[in-house]
Amino acid sequence: MQRNASASPLAPDWLAVPEDLNALHAPMWAAGVERNDAGMLAIDGIPVSELKEQFGTPLFVMSESDFRARARSFKDAFDHAFADICAGVDVYYAGKSFLCTAVASWVAEEGLRLDTCSGGELAVAARAGIAGANLSLHGNNKSDAEIRRALDMKLGRIVVDSLDELDRVAKIAEGRGEAAKVMLRLTPGVHAHTHEFIATAHEDQKFGLSMAGDTTDEEGLSAAEEAVAAATTYHSIELLGLHCHIGSQIFEPDGFALAAEKLLTFLDSMQRKYSIVLPELDLGGGYGIAYTPVDTPRPPAEIAHAMAAVVRSTCASLEITPPRISIEPGRAIVGSSTFTLYEVGTLKTVRVDAPAATAAKGAEGANGNVTFPRRYVSVDGGMSDNARPVLYDADYSAVLASRATESAPQLSRVVGKHCESGDIVVRDVYLPEDVAAGDLLAVPGTGAYCWALSSNYNYLARPGVVAVRDGSARLIVRGETEEDLLNRDMGVANV
Ligand SMILES: *Cc1c(COP(=O)(O)O)cnc(C)c1O
Repeated sequence: MQRNASASPLAPDWLAVPEDLNALHAPMWAAGVERNDAGMLAIDGIPVSELKEQFGTPLFVMSESDFRARARSFKDAFDHAFADICAGVDVYYAGKSFLCTAVASWVAEEGLRLDTCSGGELAVAARAGIAGANLSLHGNNKSDAEIRRALDMKLGRIVVDSLDELDRVAKIAEGRGEAAKVMLRLTPGVHAHTHEFIATAHEDQKFGLSMAGDTTDEEGLSAAEEAVAAATTYHSIELLGLHCHIGSQIFEPDGFALAAEKLLTFLDSMQRKYSIVLPELDLGGGYGIAYTPVDTPRPPAEIAHAMAAVVRSTCASLEITPPRISIEPGRAIVGSSTFTLYEVGTLKTVRVDAPAATAAKGAEGANGNVTFPRRYVSVDGGMSDNARPVLYDADYSAVLASRATESAPQLSRVVGKHCESGDIVVRDVYLPEDVAAGDLLAVPGTGAYCWALSSNYNYLARPGVVAVRDGSARLIVRGETEEDLLNRDMGVANV
């Protein structure tokens, strides 16, 4: 992107100065979010001032219609692309990205299934009335209690992560006189992030069964093959198929395609060698969304088409019947459905030494260095409601939500109110110069892994989540109160 004349030398290269600070870059926002005639941000016609008045800030504002539309678009696009391959695709919404009973019920109503990875997530699914057959359970360290719960709920599948776990699932199911429906999570050595993927032979991570041959084993079997072989010997294991998940926030389909090819080739060789049929293959989630204007997510139809092409051609050249395909998108369904509404508090501008290469224009500081201003805009939340910038250096964007303005762009850093200098919400964004205390800011793309990762650091109450549909707003998770914060505190000992 072109940097225009008023770009700050402190801004990263990718960040362009917006031509219009009041404009909303559509890919980052839920459908139904726009500025009203008064210039205020509104969702489905409800102005953010009203949401603030009714529910307070910080607040997660989710568009139910947008969530449902994205869920449907994945289901429809993959069903369509895979219609002639395996008569459609099972789409499991990755509940870890954001889960509450309302969202679980929307998922079910839109014809998706639900992927969980703990007893707690199973409890939410159960409370929402989701049938066990439409649930899967992930996790690299499932407890016996979680495995038993999955069997109690008659889960559609347990995704087994290790040889050790396969053994435990088999024993627990055997003790109950049942057969557990199991997928094996494999690590195909494909790691993808955003625009690139890397392929490695050996895996050095906690998830999954490696497909690389183990040279310490006499027979040289990979952990993945050992698991398939073991699974065929247990009467209490019904081996449904194979699973992989290669990463997150991925834009290009090449990594998914390579992983699909590797898994299908492996599936074929296992079917031959062990005279078994593996009817299912799950290709995981990880589809990217737009957090900033330079992110370029692909429409579900494009991803589905690319993946279907590879599955079709690989199965044809292996001469196998294609397995039933499933996927597990989380972020790409819920991420852009939501923005976080904050109130602006303290403003502060610091002067920062210019990056060496650009020490051209700017003011001279006390030590003779050339300096440029960076404005810190503090909001009433922070790393407790969005840990992703701290955890992953994630970039976000923000707009002034309470009004439109003609004021000039100023490079800003949106920060929280926590006692950490790393407590950054938006590292670099151009906001209007006239942003003032009491203004409302909106940060888009906060539906996934924000509320889900929220904490009570500094005894801040976790924000509520409001869902907007057809012009009305309702809390789907209420915000915490001071009472909630003190609820589990057992008090001072009575001596
Ligand atoms: C996290 C995760 C997902 C979802 O990833 P997104 O990037 O949110 O789509 C799917 N499957 C597995 C196994 C995961 O761990």
